[in-house]
Amino acid sequence: MDQITAQHRYLFNGHRELLTPEEAAAWRNLQVERMIALCEFPAVKELFRSRWINNDPNVLNLLRHGADTFLKKTLSRLEGQTQHCPECRALCRTSRAKICPECSHSWF
Ligand SMILES: [Zn+2]
Repeated sequence: MDQITAQHRYLFNGHRELLTPEEAAAWRNLQVERMIALCEFPAVKELFRSRWINNDPNVLNLLRHGADTFLKKTLSRLEGQTQHCPECRALCRTSRAKICPECSHSWF
């Protein structure tokens, strides 16, 4: 199973506006793949695959070296643009967050 951490979730769900459309679609593909892996009905798996997987070559290209590589690359591309706690430097849940998910420091 791919290592999707809380940090990745904060980045891809909470800092969505920083992603390129291709990165957002690749993230979505990963979520759909996860649903497909958990689903036990072949017909439903097929439906997810045909309806929800984005087959744009640019999107597939981002995932070419696996989910981990894609997640790492995107995290490092966005370094410096993401919001971090002024106290402990943890990555915030969203780009508008005012409370740290790690140390509970807040800055309203
Ligand atoms: Zn903090």
